[in-house]
Amino acid sequence: MDKIIMKTPLVEMDGDEMTRIIWKMIKDILLLPYIDLKTEYYDLGLEYRNETNDQVTIDSAIATKKYGVAVKCATITPNAARMTEYNLKEMWKSPNGTIRALLDGTVFRSPILVKGITPYIPTWTKPICIARHAYGDVYKNSEMVVSKGNKAELCVTDENGNESRELIFDFKNSDGIIQGMHNLDSSISSFARACFNYALDQKLDLWFATKDTISKKYDHTFKDIFADIYENEYKEKFEATGIEYFYTLIDDAVARVIRSNGGYIWACKNYDGDVMSDMIATAFGSLAMMTSVLVSPEGIYEYEAAHGTVQRHYYKHLKGEETSTNSVATLFAWTGALRKRGELDDTPALCDFADKLEKATIDTIESGIMTGDLYLLSTLENKKKVNTEDFLKAVNERLVELL
Ligand code: NAP
Ligand code: MG
Repeated sequence: MDKIIMKTPLVEMDGDEMTRIIWKMIKDILLLPYIDLKTEYYDLGLEYRNETNDQVTIDSAIATKKYGVAVKCATITPNAARMTEYNLKEMWKSPNGTIRALLDGTVFRSPILVKGITPYIPTWTKPICIARHAYGDVYKNSEMVVSKGNKAELCVTDENGNESRELIFDFKNSDGIIQGMHNLDSSISSFARACFNYALDQKLDLWFATKDTISKKYDHTFKDIFADIYENEYKEKFEATGIEYFYTLIDDAVARVIRSNGGYIWACKNYDGDVMSDMIATAFGSLAMMTSVLVSPEGIYEYEAAHGTVQRHYYKHLKGEETSTNSVATLFAWTGALRKRGELDDTPALCDFADKLEKATIDTIESGIMTGDLYLLSTLENKKKVNTEDFLKAVNERLVELL
């Protein structure tokens, strides 16, 4: 078989620890034998980020803007322990945060469903994709402790020094606490456009919810911006695609999500998305089966797994012990990126390859061959636990049959 030709390179962002090991295995076993793989390679492994003063992360984001599609391996976000472990010059920021900020993107997370692993909500037969607005609100707040006898006000000063004030609370009888937070119309608009674009891309309904009945200015602004952009820019495209934009109160949304069968995108404000994405991931069974894609308002895509670098398994691997780390979400990051590249470049062979590789992966698990994390969850009768590499080889056996 001739190798599939790629017209445009993918931006490849390598990463850390166990996922870096898996990254190479996926390329060697499942991609390089079949594709004339063209990538522009950026090493986001912590050592090279440190060496380049994190410039490599910025360069990889700029390249993503240029080419439009990237695939990223999980990376370490340094903390105090990593400072010593890697002898770092600085506690470098989270690469995901840096890339997201440069692309002004929104992260969409969806679970991969397989037979034998039933979600805790058994009626969820289709994935629920969560979009989190990753800017502002309580994550960029100012807080103060207020003593009894003090009065707290919101105060906005204009360019000429004129002040507008609003009472928050008069703490006459007790000590207390206050919190100030903000968001930007520009950020909310980018979030809305990323959500509408991704809904069209995936042909899925889009749900959005806030607490606008209680928060008549703050949350209501989110609702209004979404409604305006939908009416003016997306309504016709949604109708032509046969999908729906649906707004409701957050309480109602939660109740409907639980009763639903899945199969839609749920756009969440920052805090809701933080909490709900953990709930959805857990309820669907395994973090290792959760995919993630960053979408910019202009339609730039960066694919990755939602999980981290699986540090505990890496240290076992370094000691020469066998690991059984799940590579599925990382593998689906590659297939997502290859399919998108194929769509943009009009290379149907690449899209077809991505579809078949995903099918081979799911067929492998559904035939009973799986890594340890899934082995613990699966209700299949004839299941077999395999190591990291043998799983990928088993996928390859099925892929060969499909190609
Ligand atoms: P993690 O890498 O997601 O792993 C946490 C635990 O979840 C693992 O120890 C393992 O449980 C299980 N797990 C996660 N992915 C798995 C997989 N593919 N196969 C099998 N089991 C899996 O989170 P972490 O250990 O908290 O973080 C490690 C590093 O990842 C940190 O330095 C963090 O900064 C980074 N991180 C990066 C990203 C990203 O780049 N997107 C996201 C999150 C975290 P058992 O040990 O019980 O088997
Ligand atoms: Mg969270």
